[in-house]
Amino acid sequence: SLLHTWTQVDQYLNDRLIPADPLLEQALNHNAAGGLPAHDVTPNQGKFLQLLLQIHGATRVLEIGTLGGYSTIWMAIALPDQGRIVTLEADPHHAEIARHNLSHAGLMDKVDLRVGAALTTLPDIQEEYREPFDFIFIDADKPSNPDYLRWALRLTRPGSLIVGDNIVRDGEVANPNSTDERVKGVRTFLDMVANHPKLEATALQTVGSKGYDGFMLARVLP
Ligand code: SAM
Repeated sequence: SLLHTWTQVDQYLNDRLIPADPLLEQALNHNAAGGLPAHDVTPNQGKFLQLLLQIHGATRVLEIGTLGGYSTIWMAIALPDQGRIVTLEADPHHAEIARHNLSHAGLMDKVDLRVGAALTTLPDIQEEYREPFDFIFIDADKPSNPDYLRWALRLTRPGSLIVGDNIVRDGEVANPNSTDERVKGVRTFLDMVANHPKLEATALQTVGSKGYDGFMLARVLP
């Protein structure tokens, strides 16, 4: 099947390009042991996020949707000493596993993990973090993507990057009649990005071990 081929190619690319990191592998094992859904980014996607942060010189990062902290670890290890990543997670069990994984990786001094629905914790973040974020990774409940975009615009500066994950959803994103609330959330999100005078953006389809999906990359204009 196609998924089988995509998975084999991901395996091949990861074996070739991504050095095995016990901390990242232990995080995935610990997630599975804790019963978390395997909705983490793949290793090559994690590396892609890491390279984006490094290319951008990001020091202040916001992630919406922590799960077990797998993507958080990828991004946190790319940050300079004074860098910080704020990551928001609604599910206390997911957050507990993430805290364990991030502590075990020795990264908690760079990470501020907040438990609670993001729309509840984002006002606190705005209050406490006076400096705008350089990079925002939106990867939580997709129906809330339009709200997360509004927050991302409040919490960034000209030049900041915004990445939205899972925007293709097996192709359903191109269906204007979809009744799936996640698809509707993503479509509204993309419309808002397209119509916003201070954003320019692109989106790419991806295939791999997690199936057929894609991500959006936007830049905040001056
Ligand atoms: N970024 C993670 C990674 O790649 O390792 C994967 C995140 S997973 C796709 C989405 C996460 O968002 C889940 O852990 C879910 O509990 C969380 N979530 C769902 N609704 C949320 C909300 N309203 N606020 C914050 N997090 C939420």
